[in-house]
Amino acid sequence: MNSNLTSILKNVKSVHNDLDKVIGSIDNMCRKGCAHCCYQPIEIVACEELPIAEYINNRIGSDLYKKVRKQIMDWSIHFNEHFAGFESLKTVDDVSHANRAYREKVNEDRLACPFLVNNLCSIYEVRPLSCRSHIELESATLCEKDGLKESTNNIKKIRNYHFEKLIKNPNSTLRYLPVAISRTFGFNKIFKPHPMIKLN
Ligand code: SF4
Repeated sequence: MNSNLTSILKNVKSVHNDLDKVIGSIDNMCRKGCAHCCYQPIEIVACEELPIAEYINNRIGSDLYKKVRKQIMDWSIHFNEHFAGFESLKTVDDVSHANRAYREKVNEDRLACPFLVNNLCSIYEVRPLSCRSHIELESATLCEKDGLKESTNNIKKIRNYHFEKLIKNPNSTLRYLPVAISRTFGFNKIFKPHPMIKLN
């Protein structure tokens, strides 16, 4: 890995660690094995691909690799069929609208994140900022009833503060996690081309 990538990787780990400290100090209802919020498409900042790819290449066993790879393939079939618009999306508003609609469709179809295996996150240690900062303060039942339940404004502020730090890394874009990581699983162009949101 070249020195630029090493420094970006270090930065991402540091932002994630800082975020974990803040989130870890807040009483919440999230527990191992509770995955109600993992039935939505997760977006990641480009720099977050690095720790995830490194983890997959070096730390997960072949059975888990094959299982997640198959789930990414299945996820891509759903995405290619249901993500609206593709090349007709011209503006950030168009893309945001398509993303919102797709999020609802994924939740309605109970399509799990492909990294969810036996109700556990297979990349928990390196999961992206949006997963790290998604906590429920009142009751897990609320997430069970509404898989797209929003975080409170205070939690959103914490998330945004750390998100701003991540997007200072060069060439920041937002992409869906399975799309961004598909290359690490040896896939090439299994997703129909669609616009990426550029962040800087
Ligand atoms: S990356 Fe992990 S925590 Fe995030 S949605 Fe997927 S399975 Fe859940």
